[in-house]
Amino acid sequence: MSKRDRTAARTTPYSPSPHGLALLRDPLLNKGTAFTDEERDALGLRGFLPPAVLSMQAQVERVLTHLRGLPSDLEKYIALNALHDRNEALFFRVVCDHIDEIQPLIYTPTVGLACQRFGLIFQRPRGLFISAKERGHVAEILSNWPYPAKLIVVTDGERILGLGDLGAYGMGIPVGKLSLYSACAGIHPKLCLPVTLDVGTNNEELLNDPYYIGLRQRRVTGTDYDDFVDEFVTAARETFPGVLIQFEDFANHSAFRLLHKYRDDACVFNDDIQGTAAVALAGLFSALRVTGGKLNEQRLLFLGAGEAATGIAELVVSAMVAEGASEAEALRRNWLVDSRGLVVKGRPGLTEHKLRFAHEQAPISDFLTAIRTLKPTAIIGVAAVGGAFTPDVLRTMARLNERPIIFALSNPTSKSECSAAEAYRHTEGRALFACGSPFDAVQLDGKTFIPRQGNNSYIFPGVGLGAIGSASRLVTDEMFMAAAHALANSVSEADLQQGSLYPALPRIREVSAQIGAAVAGVAYQRGLAGGPTPNDLVGFVQTQMYDPSY
Ligand code: NAD
Repeated sequence: MSKRDRTAARTTPYSPSPHGLALLRDPLLNKGTAFTDEERDALGLRGFLPPAVLSMQAQVERVLTHLRGLPSDLEKYIALNALHDRNEALFFRVVCDHIDEIQPLIYTPTVGLACQRFGLIFQRPRGLFISAKERGHVAEILSNWPYPAKLIVVTDGERILGLGDLGAYGMGIPVGKLSLYSACAGIHPKLCLPVTLDVGTNNEELLNDPYYIGLRQRRVTGTDYDDFVDEFVTAARETFPGVLIQFEDFANHSAFRLLHKYRDDACVFNDDIQGTAAVALAGLFSALRVTGGKLNEQRLLFLGAGEAATGIAELVVSAMVAEGASEAEALRRNWLVDSRGLVVKGRPGLTEHKLRFAHEQAPISDFLTAIRTLKPTAIIGVAAVGGAFTPDVLRTMARLNERPIIFALSNPTSKSECSAAEAYRHTEGRALFACGSPFDAVQLDGKTFIPRQGNNSYIFPGVGLGAIGSASRLVTDEMFMAAAHALANSVSEADLQQGSLYPALPRIREVSAQIGAAVAGVAYQRGLAGGPTPNDLVGFVQTQMYDPSY
C-alpha cells in the first residue's frame, strides 16, 4: 500500500460495517450481550450470543460483581484488561462510573505490579512496540496504526514509576495512562495511541527472563538513542499531523533533555515533570485560599531535586513571575535538598536542572537544619525517602507557621515522607496537607480531616483535552499554570473545611472540562490554536468528550 493509501485508510471512517463474528471481535464496536434482537438479526449475530439481552447497566453490575470476587488486584487488572480488549465502551463505562475503585486497579499502584509481570500476563498486544532494530522504518510502523491518533503516550521504559528499568514491560504505563485520558477527560479511545520505544534494557533480571518480550540487549545510548527518538517524533508528527506526544517515565537524564529539545517546536509535554508540577501548584493555590497568602510571598523547601522537585519549582517560579515577582526573586524563594544536602552555589557536580536553584548559602547537610535556617512556609517531599518528615520537622514547621504547608508527595505509601495522621498530629491540626499516596481520614480533637492525593490524573487528562480540542501547536507552562488555577478553583469550601486541597475524584470529568477550557483558552489567547475562539470554552470542550455508551 502506498503512503497516500495508508493515510486515506486511516482517516476514512473506520472499517466497512463489520458483521457477525468480526463485529463481536472488534472492541470499539462490540456490545456483547447488549446487542438487541433487531441488531442480532440485522448484523448476522444470531447464534453467536446467548439469548438473553442485557442492558449496559446490567453488564456494568455483572463486571463489578465478578471483579469484586477476584482474589488479588493483579487478577482484577487482568480481568479489566481483557474487558478493555473485548468491549471498550463497557470498560470505560465501568471506569467512569467507579473511578475511585477502578483507577488504582488500572493505574497506580496495581499497574506497577502488572508491568513487572508483563511478560507473564501478556495477552493481546495494545499500541505500538517500536524497537531500535527498526531504525529507519519508524514511519512505516506508525502507518500500520489504523486510527487517526491525536494523542500518543510514549515511554522508553527506563524509569517505570519507582521501579526503575523495565524495558518493554513498561508498556503497561502508556496503556494505563491513556485509559485515564479517555475515562477522566473523554478523549475518544480511537484517538489514543500507546507507544513503547524499545531500546533494550539494562535490567539483568529481564535480560535473563525467558518470557521477556522486549529487545534482549543493553540499552542503546548517546547519539544513536537521540536519533532514534528523533526519528520517532518526526515520523509521528508527519503521520498524525497535530498529534500531542506525552513523554512518560523516561529516566532523568533523558526526560529533561527531550523535553527541552522539543517543547518549543512540537506539541509535547512530560507528565512526570510538568503534570506533577501543575498538580502540586494547584495544591499550593488551594492552601493559599485557606491562608489568604500570596504565592510570591511563600518560601518553598523541597526534599528531593529530581524530575518532580525541579518540575514543581520551575512552574512555581513561572507562577510567581506571573504574579509580579522578578525571576531572580522567584528563584530565591525555592530551595532544594537532595541526597547530598542543600543545593547551594558552588557545590561541585550540580546537574543542569538543579543549577538554577543553587543559591548563595553555606552548605547544610540535613533537612531539619535547612528548615531552621531558611524558615520555609511550605515543605514538599519528592525524594521517595519514607518518614523523612520526622515529628521534629513537622513541629518545627508548626512553630514557624500558623498554617504550615506540608506536602508528602512521594509514593508508594512506604516512601511517603509522613502519614496524614503524623502531619496533623504534630502540627496540632494546623497543617495544610497533601499526599502522593492514599491515606484514610484522620480524627483529631473532635475534627475529621480528609487528606486527598495530589495525583497527576487530576491534571493531565484535562491538559490533553484542552490541547487537542483547540488543536494547539504547543503545550506551554502557561497552560499548566492555567490548569493548576482551574483545579484549585474547583475545590469547594466544604473540601477546604475538611482539609482537602483537591476535589473528590468522582468529579473528575467536570474538573477536566474546566481544565480543558482553561488550557484551550491559553491556546486561543496566544495564537497557538487552530481555528476561531469559541464563545463558550467549557461547552466547546464538553462537546468533544467521549461518553461511553451504546
Ligand atoms: P527522581 O529520581 O527524579 O528524584 C529523586 C530525588 O530525590 C533526587 O534528586 C535525589 O537526589 C533525591 N534524594 C534521594 N535520596 C535523598 C535523601 N536521602 N535526601 C534528600 N533527597 C534525596 O524522582 P522523581 O520523579 O522526582 O520522583 C520522586 C518521588 O516523587 C517518587 O516517590 C515519586 O513517586 C513521587 N512523585 C509523586 C507525584 C505525585 O504525587 N503526584 C508525581 C511525581 C513523582
